[in-house]
Amino acid sequence: MCKIKEVAVVGMGPGAEEGITVEALNTLEQAEVIVGYPVYLALLPERFREKEQLSTPMRAEEERCRMAFQEAQKGRRTVMLCSGDAGVYGMASLMLELRPEYPDCSVRVIAGVTAALSGAARLGAPLGTDFSVISLSDLLTPWEKIETRLRAAAESDMNIALYNPSSRKRADYLKRACDILLEYLPGERCCGYVKRIGRDGEERRLLTLSELREAETDMFTTVFIGSSATERSGEFLLTRRGYRRG
Ligand code: SAH
Repeated sequence: MCKIKEVAVVGMGPGAEEGITVEALNTLEQAEVIVGYPVYLALLPERFREKEQLSTPMRAEEERCRMAFQEAQKGRRTVMLCSGDAGVYGMASLMLELRPEYPDCSVRVIAGVTAALSGAARLGAPLGTDFSVISLSDLLTPWEKIETRLRAAAESDMNIALYNPSSRKRADYLKRACDILLEYLPGERCCGYVKRIGRDGEERRLLTLSELREAETDMFTTVFIGSSATERSGEFLLTRRGYRRG
């Protein structure tokens, strides 16, 4: 009987082992080879370091995916490792795009805790009602489209989580996004951000939209912009769902 050739695409959550789902941990434990971006491989718990690890640099995503299929074709239990959830700005979709070229292989996607959710929990409950997740990276999405989405989210009074708020090359992107949002939203709107969720040096801050415009963030930050139902309660952000209480 021929062995099933499969790549498991695993989201490892924000960073620490306690944020990895049991399903993802079990899959990693069974793996013979783990393919991933070096930063994520380095975050894996100690005991997985003994397994064979393969990686490619940051931009070489297609090569990394093909590497995973080639390992599976050798009959090895292969994991493609992503941070957070593999389907949210992760490798799950590219793996499925490439899959038809490897007809002897199948793909299994294992859910992980995406940064919008782990970060929201750190701040309290900013995503209590409808929300949208928008990445400010224009590597794969034209900036005009990102702008349209920011406007739509602000206009429709959604809570917003922003991924990729800035990087060295895109230092002013968060400022540009805030300027667009400020066309629709008041400067006092409740916002927050969390840096390095579940990793060394984790940091959280609550601030207003005007303050957010001036804030320093980086590529390991997730930003939250409240809706009209969001308020600050002590050290928490909460978005009221509209319960009428006695
Ligand atoms: N697949 C990942 C997202 C990858 S896009 C997920 O589901 O979480 C990369 C962006 O995700 C970063 O720029 C940042 O905005 C966010 N992010 C991922 N991990 C993070 C962490 N540990 N702390 C803060 N933000 C994080």
